[in-house]
Amino acid sequence: MTSTIETRAVPSPGAAAQPTREVRVAVIGTGFAGLAMGIKLRERGETDFVLLERADDVGGTWRDNTYPGAACDVQSHLYSYSFAPNPDWGRSYSEQPEIQAYLQRTAARYGVREHCVFGADVTAARWDEGERRWHVTTTAGNFRARVLISAAGALADPTYPAIPGIESFEGTVMHSARWDSSHDISGEKVAVIGTGASAIQVVPAIQPQVESITVYQRTPAWVVPRTDHPVKPWARRLYRLLPGLQRAIRGVLYAFREFLVLGMAKQRMFLKPVGALAKAHLERQVRDPKLREALTPDYTIGCKRILISNDYFPAVAAPNAELVTAGIAEIRPRSIVSEDGIERPTDTLVLATGFHVTDLPIAEKICGREGRTLAEVWEEGMVTNRSAAVAGFPNMFLLVGPNVGVGHTSMVYMIESQVSYVDDALRTMETEDLAVLETTPEAQAAWRELIAEKSKGTVWLAGGCASWYLDKHGHNSTLWPDFTFRFRKLTKQLDRENYVGVPAGAPASTEEAA
Ligand code: NAP
Repeated sequence: MTSTIETRAVPSPGAAAQPTREVRVAVIGTGFAGLAMGIKLRERGETDFVLLERADDVGGTWRDNTYPGAACDVQSHLYSYSFAPNPDWGRSYSEQPEIQAYLQRTAARYGVREHCVFGADVTAARWDEGERRWHVTTTAGNFRARVLISAAGALADPTYPAIPGIESFEGTVMHSARWDSSHDISGEKVAVIGTGASAIQVVPAIQPQVESITVYQRTPAWVVPRTDHPVKPWARRLYRLLPGLQRAIRGVLYAFREFLVLGMAKQRMFLKPVGALAKAHLERQVRDPKLREALTPDYTIGCKRILISNDYFPAVAAPNAELVTAGIAEIRPRSIVSEDGIERPTDTLVLATGFHVTDLPIAEKICGREGRTLAEVWEEGMVTNRSAAVAGFPNMFLLVGPNVGVGHTSMVYMIESQVSYVDDALRTMETEDLAVLETTPEAQAAWRELIAEKSKGTVWLAGGCASWYLDKHGHNSTLWPDFTFRFRKLTKQLDRENYVGVPAGAPASTEEAA
């Protein structure tokens, strides 16, 4: 099997032998969240910090997802930092290279690139109670940090399906998030597994190039039209001249998208027009009634992410394309056999099968005060206070962790809310001269209760689908189940009463509730 399934870490031999570097703050990851945190740290005059990045560049998921057709489902005016508007977006919905270039530029402009340690794959992070420090081991050296911030992201580690025989496949295997651009798929027989946001972009992008494309669909997706268009040069000039105009458009887009929450989380009837739009889109684009039926979901729209595309249905309906709804029984060295017994020769297998979201791999590496990893503590479900802090993990904060995901709007909005919360925590540590700041189990229980209460009756829980939004216990541990401005309000500043602080001078074993 020729595959590109490993991460893009740049290993550094002999890292273990390197001396430990002391830093005040260690941030894991340089995607939208890690960079925003770095920028905030710089803004408050902090220079003693590192951004640990396993790859060789910034960008996170936008660096890694280079598959043909990769683009954002949220308009760029909104899917960008509020403090770094870009008047030069080339399209209303930007493609991956433009977003990646924006992140590279922004990292350089705000002086955080010099804080990045590339090739630093975090293999372990352990809290030392005696030293009150985090010991972080990476493939590019070891670090001792007062504060650890994980911005490793939820769409960072691809999932590979456990299909019988997959290891025996002799053709090329590529996960959508680990695309090998050196492999030429022209004229090949290509199989794509999955019909999520990644698949519906990659399928139309490669369908005209390949001899045949077979899409293995387990669950059909609701798809609505994509109102994408190039941004005219005069409009870009106008955004340059009148930055307020771009901000106003951002505001309108934000407000419009928040309306979707009404239907998803409050009153299902508000989803009806969206469902009708998706149905009409399918009927307009797919004439064959059998294919149309196979592409029609049987769950409420919004239960899984609503996808936007104008070219997915035409690509699946093309003469060289086939949609297979029978499950995959087996993968052989040069073919795929579906459960109806049909064997289809295959040269390249594209796995658009998603990411480890409810079982974050970084959680296995972070070990708290009691010697248990986050993954062990989260065995019964991911619990946090304010989606940012975990009891037993002092001086540690999470960005893009549990219950901050959004399907309807820009993740960057949520990230900025989280960054200001963590910033306030750091400010509190400074002003109160605290060596340790740790949230309480009671605060975690209350946050969990709040999420459960808000999730009741929402389309994600009651929409009749299985999705990665829910964990193995059926709990919503990924999505923020309410308006995003409510999340911002709840995380505007540190809920100091939900934290225990240990003053700098106190002996290591003493804990004072402050
Ligand atoms: P995904 O939404 O998790 O979709 C994975 C797909 O693979 C699903 O169709 C799933 O089927 C299928 N699948 C998984 N395991 C399978 C198996 N063993 N056999 C057959 N099918 C299998 O992953 P994604 O498309 O990469 O998207 C993940 C998230 O990334 C999105 O929700 C979105 O947040 C983000 N994203 C955004 C954009 C954008 O903005 N345009 C683009 C790409 C990704 P089931 O549905 O039956 O589980």
